[in-house]
Formats: sequence, structure tokens, C-alpha cells
Amino acid sequence: MRGAALTYAGPPPVEALKPCHIRIHPGEYVTITGPSGSGKSTFLNIAGLLDAPTQGTCLLNGTDTTTLSERDRTALRGGRIGFVFQSFHLVPHRSAVENVMLGMLYNPAVARHERTALARDALVRVGLGHRLNAVPTRLSGGECQRVAIARALATAPSLLLCDEPTGNLDTATAAAVLDLLDALHQDGMTLVVITHAPEVADRGDRRLHIRDGEVSDIRRGGPDSTRATHTAAEPNGAAPCA
Ligand code: ADP
Ligand code: MG
Repeated sequence: MRGAALTYAGPPPVEALKPCHIRIHPGEYVTITGPSGSGKSTFLNIAGLLDAPTQGTCLLNGTDTTTLSERDRTALRGGRIGFVFQSFHLVPHRSAVENVMLGMLYNPAVARHERTALARDALVRVGLGHRLNAVPTRLSGGECQRVAIARALATAPSLLLCDEPTGNLDTATAAAVLDLLDALHQDGMTLVVITHAPEVADRGDRRLHIRDGEVSDIRRGGPDSTRATHTAAEPNGAAPCA
């Protein structure tokens, strides 16, 4: 993000995210903490191309996503980015396989005849190969979240964005979901995970903390907290990145 910021028009206007310069590297596991209403979801939605910043830019692999058409942005998101939310957003009376397939419905990169195989593969990967035809009402919370993760993974994104993925799960179930995220990270997936839970925040390589829309970068083993909001370019001419 290069000075990316978002102000909701209101009235009254809400400065949900203040200009931030953050670079997330391929393969990093970044966690995001901060009080409720501090701008965490706003940050994630911009990173995931669901929302465009009202100021500054957001680049994905060097492509300025803010100048793309809505259609191109959607295609880029569909091919590269997976989302997981606190409330699993599954369709209750559709099987696990069907739920994962529904996630591909508007993805132009996936041909119709590929959907079933991709959905099954993703469910096997999250450990639900034996529950392919179960409906969410017959699955536990942890299993539902694994279906949602399978849906996010089915099209092989390189970036997985999770907004409080364990927020609705008990401790033991949450641990299994976190182990799954660890395994994805080991496989090279870039992860950005919003969380309230300290045990989740400590799993990543790096932690961002957001307060009143202002993003701070907390590196493991580094100084306690470094402001991640800069306006000047660095001396070497590179974009000022965290
Ligand atoms: P968090 O995820 O940290 O709880 P959010 O990013 O959802 O915070 O919200 C940041 C701020 O923006 C909050 O003050 C919230 O009320 C406000 N906000 C979020 N969505 C909207 C919206 N659609 N319109 C106006 N204000 C919003
Ligand atoms: Mg939120």
C-alpha cells in the first residue's frame, strides 16, 4: 500500500484508514490486531481489492489495482486472493462440495467442468475428504470454517486474507484451524489474518497493529513498535515500505 487511506463519506465522514505504507512480501504470515472499529477490516478489504482506497494506491505484484476497471479488479481478485470471514458465510442446505463450488461461480478463471474436482481437492486438503456431502447444519463450527477455507483455497490463490477466522470457534477447534493456516504458510501461501486472540497474533512472522485507523508495524524481535505511516520516499528512492 502506498499511502492507501479510506474515508467513508458519511455524513459524518469516517476516516477508517489513515494513509499507510505497508509492503507485505510473498510468503509472509502477517497478523493484524487492534480494538474494534480501529480499521482492521477496512485495511483487509482494501488489500483484498473488495474496496478501493479513497486516497493513495494499493499494488498487487506491482500492478496498481486502483486504476483497474471494476471488471479487471474482480478478475485479479478471483485469480489471486482468497477470503475467510468470522461467520463462515456458507449456504446452509448445500453440501460442503456445493458450497466450495458456489465460490467459483463468478470466477472466470474456472471452467464449469473443473469445479467439482477443484472443490473436492480443496476439501481433502483441509481434512474434510470424508465429509464432502455433509451440509453445514450437520458440521461442527470448526468443520464449517474448514469448508470456508477450502472455498477460499479452491482456485489456488497466492494470498489468503482472514478476518477473525477463529472468532466463532472454541479454543481446541480454533487450534486446528490455526494449524491448517500454519500448514498453508509452510506451503508458501501469503497470509494476512485479523485477530483478537494473542495466541493467533503470535503465530505470524510479523504483526500489524491498527489504532484509530493508524497502522503500526510490530516486528518480531525488533523494536516494540514502528510507525508504518510515512509520507517521504526513502533515500534510495524505493517506496517507503514497512
Ligand atoms: P474493525 O474491523 O477494526 O472493527 P472497521 O474497519 O470495520 O473496523 O471499521 C473502521 C471504522 O469505519 C469504524 O468506525 C466503523 O464504524 C467505520 N465503518 C465501517 N464500515 C463503514 C461504512 N460502510 N460506512 C461508514 N462507516 C463505516
Ligand atoms: Mg472488523
